[in-house]
Amino acid sequence: MGLLTEGTALSWEETKKQADHVRKHGIQQFLYQYHKLKDLCNECLYWGDEVEYMLVKLDRANKQCRLVLKAQQVLKKLQKREQEFPNDHPSTWRPEYAEYMVEGTPGKPYGGLMAHFNLVEANMKLRREEIQNCLGANEVPLSLTVFPRIGAGIFTEPALKPTPQKGYSQSLFFPDGAINQGHPRFHTLTRNIRERRGKKVAIQIPVFKDENTQSPFVEDLSQYGDDGTSQNAALPDHVYLDCMGFGMGASCLQVTFQACNINEGRELYDQLAPLCPILLALSAASPVYRGYLTDIDNRWTVIAQSVDDRTDEERGLKPLKENRFRINKSRYDSISSYLSPQGRCYNDIPLTYDKEIFEELKKGGVDDLLSRHVAHLFIRDPISLFSEKIQQNDEEDTDHFENIQSTNWQTMRFKPPPPNSTIGWRVEFRPMEVQLSDFENAAYVTFIVLLTRVILSYRLNFIIPISKVDENMKTAFKPDAALSGKFYFKKDVFTESTPPEATECCETMMCCSKKKCEKIDDEYTLMTIDEIFHGKADFPGLIPLIKQYISNIECDVDTQCTVLQYLNLISKRASGELNTTARWIRNFVTAHPDYKKDSVVSETICFDLMEKCEKISKNEIEVPELIIPHTTKTVDNIPDAIRTLYKNLEKKKGQTANGH
Ligand code: ADP
Ligand code: MG
Ligand code: MG
Repeated sequence: MGLLTEGTALSWEETKKQADHVRKHGIQQFLYQYHKLKDLCNECLYWGDEVEYMLVKLDRANKQCRLVLKAQQVLKKLQKREQEFPNDHPSTWRPEYAEYMVEGTPGKPYGGLMAHFNLVEANMKLRREEIQNCLGANEVPLSLTVFPRIGAGIFTEPALKPTPQKGYSQSLFFPDGAINQGHPRFHTLTRNIRERRGKKVAIQIPVFKDENTQSPFVEDLSQYGDDGTSQNAALPDHVYLDCMGFGMGASCLQVTFQACNINEGRELYDQLAPLCPILLALSAASPVYRGYLTDIDNRWTVIAQSVDDRTDEERGLKPLKENRFRINKSRYDSISSYLSPQGRCYNDIPLTYDKEIFEELKKGGVDDLLSRHVAHLFIRDPISLFSEKIQQNDEEDTDHFENIQSTNWQTMRFKPPPPNSTIGWRVEFRPMEVQLSDFENAAYVTFIVLLTRVILSYRLNFIIPISKVDENMKTAFKPDAALSGKFYFKKDVFTESTPPEATECCETMMCCSKKKCEKIDDEYTLMTIDEIFHGKADFPGLIPLIKQYISNIECDVDTQCTVLQYLNLISKRASGELNTTARWIRNFVTAHPDYKKDSVVSETICFDLMEKCEKISKNEIEVPELIIPHTTKTVDNIPDAIRTLYKNLEKKKGQTANGH
């Protein structure tokens, strides 16, 4: 969940007064670190995954399922090993937004050896076991993107009721007690987003219209204690949700890469950006919200709307008076500009950025692309601030910079090195939905890590106009986008250069001549995910490219087998031979005897679905329509295996340094 600092949280009114202070010092902090670290060269790739888990209780006697609110208690146990052995723990545990969630990462990032891929699944399995050991009878950790009955009546254990008239979120459906109780940041974010916006967030998800679904689909929200405000906000034929918890209380799968220098980081950021909607569609796992089947397959739009703190002025509903900018995206959304010289001419959407901050950065010696990126992030206000953290030393601290940076939750994140660490420039890939089993999660992570290796080794170029990436994001939400969606994709991924005529149009960062735009328009075409992964015309496809890469590098047979199994899963999802998790959930619900073709996912359906998910996550059943038969990667002693791999890595580095 990014930056966590301890202290006393300020009210929104107090935070607002400090907004300019935070931005001003945030920029000074960025500038200081930038100059200190811009020439940093790390010789080695590091990377790591993040998996978010939900704590779920299955009441088998009553066929009821609840989210268990005990993250604090569980985390305390989970973090023990890290506290005792700060340099030797196989997993790292962090709090997440909800009191029913925890986030786990490997204890150390993985390195550049192919053999590291043998550890990913085993480490995920270990993490799952670690959580399981902290839970009670009939409680399980599920790597589930969205709990199907989140916000539908009582969905937590202990049973909590929402408080629509008071508290942090004032939701009709989501009790404040389901928000993380261990750190004030999460409550504060919830309240301040609502207060900054001037009202509750309003998340509208098109309902899936089945034969017996009420039509038009309109709920009487007064039954939940609504005073009329929510009823007014709710759109017909939509499932209406009204707080941050619906989005931030969803789980995801993220991967962070360290680049060897800042330029490689910027390049990776750009090359991975067009893949965000594609991987979002291929990992889609969340078609059910608040007990209703909906017409979306994944969480992205929900989470974007769930933290949308823009005022009516900023959203263009009223003339600008109090606010400074019209802003066309939520602070949780797709990226709006490329960062590398290669991406420059493809920045074809108007970028809202703070001109003063932009000038300040330019004056401070930062190039215009990076200045614009930071000045774009800095159009946002700090949304949670702690009194102890207001006064800072800009040459040592980065909290003010991180405050704004870490509450810009975009598809990609460009992360400067933390101060006083050995960590380099990193890029985070953030769109993917989490899968039910360790095998699947390992497969998605391995796929994207290998793809970065292929991009850098073969100098591949996936960049298309960023407006097309945004269009792809819209396609990616749709049911079965992985099967039938068509996505804009680069025709020739081997061209390194941008069209020569297009290079001068960059003053405004917009393509300013029709001719140049036409040239760029020639570079991409619509493809299905099957075509993107398996090839079309001259485009070889991502899977064959990765396979070629593997056959060209040093890789032992065991690792090759592991990796090929993962690629096989991804390939079969991409071809449609296997269901996405979203499709599988849809089929499960609609085939359930309790389903009345009215879009309602009842307690019984939810329970049976969760019980099935539990079995999948424990590898107890085969689900041939979702997962290929596979051998589970086991590693006897993970801490030992990690240590050995690190030794090998050091040896390899030593050899390279000695000219071998
Ligand atoms: P976030 O910004 O999402 O809070 P974290 O700092 O928790 O990110 O780390 C996310 C992932 O990055 C973890 O999997 C971790 O193992 C990995 N990681 C840590 N250090 C590095 C590094 N130097 N290079 C790449 N990945 C790293
Ligand atoms: Mg997280
Ligand atoms: Mg993250």
